[in-house]
Amino acid sequence: MPLKEYKKKRDFGATPEPGPEAKDTAGRDYVIQKHQATNLHFDLRLEDEGVLKSWAVTKEPPVEPGVKRLAVHVEDHPYSYKDFEGEIPEGQYGAGTVEIWDKGTYRALLEGEPDATTAEAIERGALKFELDGERLKGRYVLYHFDKNGKNWFFFKMKS
Ligand code: MN
Repeated sequence: MPLKEYKKKRDFGATPEPGPEAKDTAGRDYVIQKHQATNLHFDLRLEDEGVLKSWAVTKEPPVEPGVKRLAVHVEDHPYSYKDFEGEIPEGQYGAGTVEIWDKGTYRALLEGEPDATTAEAIERGALKFELDGERLKGRYVLYHFDKNGKNWFFFKMKS
């Protein structure tokens, strides 16, 4: 039940967000949604195993190397969430405005670990990937720096 936490937090009779259905084929889409909730943040979502692995990036994602952003790992979202834009009503989880800030495809960089999967890299706390989006292009890293918490760094690699 990969979307259990997503489902638990939401009342689908009250929010226009997609329901908790996983997608059954693999692919490599990503999206970044600008979410004006209590605090403005940018939700980075990478498609893997039928769902969107998700991080809330606390400031605008970097287009150049040299800037590290805090990215808080949050619950998996359904694949169809990648197209969601709209208003989450007052009183609902994440109330506020969601708009797509960037979208495209990504490729996990698992060189040297030919049998590894994206999910395993995330589980181990370090994922390198290449983005081919409208705003973000090039090689990026998500790095889990507090092993007992949900805090990761998100930054662009120098080359
Ligand atoms: Mn959010």
